[in-house]
Amino acid sequence: MLSYRHAFHAGNHADVLKHFVQVQLHLYMNQKDAAYTYIDTHSGAGVYALDSAQATKNAEFDTGIGPLWTCTDLPAPLVPYMDLVKGMNPSGKMRYYPGSPYVAEQVSREQDRLRLFELHPSDCRILAENFRKVEAHKAEQGERSRGSRVIIEHGDGFNSLKALLPPPSRRALVLIDPPYEIKDDYRRVRDALDEALGKFPSGIYAVWYPVLQRMESRQFADRLKRLPAKEWLNVTLTTRTPTPDGHGLHSSGMFILNPPYTLEPMLREVMPYLVRVLGKDAGARFTIEKGTQVTGAAAGRLVGDAPRAPVGNARRASPLSGKGSLRLPGQSMPGREENPGRPARAAGGERTPAAEGRRPQGAGARPAKGDGPRAAAPGARKGPRSGGGRG
Ligand code: SAM
Repeated sequence: MLSYRHAFHAGNHADVLKHFVQVQLHLYMNQKDAAYTYIDTHSGAGVYALDSAQATKNAEFDTGIGPLWTCTDLPAPLVPYMDLVKGMNPSGKMRYYPGSPYVAEQVSREQDRLRLFELHPSDCRILAENFRKVEAHKAEQGERSRGSRVIIEHGDGFNSLKALLPPPSRRALVLIDPPYEIKDDYRRVRDALDEALGKFPSGIYAVWYPVLQRMESRQFADRLKRLPAKEWLNVTLTTRTPTPDGHGLHSSGMFILNPPYTLEPMLREVMPYLVRVLGKDAGARFTIEKGTQVTGAAAGRLVGDAPRAPVGNARRASPLSGKGSLRLPGQSMPGREENPGRPARAAGGERTPAAEGRRPQGAGARPAKGDGPRAAAPGARKGPRSGGGRG
């Protein structure tokens, strides 16, 4: 059952949070010369046309990348992300939005490797096609990548992750971003991370998740805190009070295992800005919490505007955070909802453009040029896919 298509949601506030954090994680990885492997277990189509029938159906980008597009007072850490998006749209009109594979392609370096998994046959085909266009564009510019730099696989990202760990370079950034339309995705994320940490404890693992009323979602972050990673960081962005009918995604989070030490202060700088620009009503807020594994027991706690005191005696959680909310372990966040009524994932007419192939201008943006032939985009012709609950 594969009903989810990310084209309906491209550029929404959840994408902004996810991709801005993703850019920052790449920039951190780029600080060392040694190559790393980026693994995207749920890649989607790679690039999205915001004027496509899917994207305009609910125009979710209007409450995501849209309001940021014209901002001239961006906090510095948002600049590389916005430069990347603007670089895809050299005409100045907001037409294309990057998916996580394209973000990785642009911000990682020539020596880094991208391993991209996508289960939906159409999106996998579009992903491969988009990467062919990126490659053609680079060739026009006189750039070439190594043949093995990007490998796209039509397959199950959860099942494939373990086999890639540890990576040859012993450095990895993993993004796990499933649809959550089926409850099992929550369990599969947790299990995949547990296995991955067993094989490669020092990787950076980033998980996007929807903040919903449904039980699996409410318990999700607390479960991830119990994983055997040394440290974790959890950031959520809520853009509005949930509607009474529970329609639409109002809040989402990024949970990062082994986060760079630079991430939390950077989030404290950027999240208030995102709340101000993307917030729709008084329910808009952000939360940041982080913790350290000490013995393995769990104690997650999240306090709005509280001092940064570690809590818990086994796993230590430091509540940092947003705009006045207190949540004890097991309590739901104000503003979470049940079944946020993801817009109809109607079939039909996926239309994905060519990326225009520009690089981000911001600090640390991919410097190197390629040599030699470039990545293959294998399979795009088979397979199923699944849906979910992202709103
Ligand atoms: N990460 C993408 C981005 O940020 O641009 C968006 C990914 S989208 C939210 C989730 C994707 O996962 C969908 O394209 C869906 O077809 C795919 N998918 C669902 N189950 C999967 C699985 N088990 N393995 C790989 N891909 C899967």
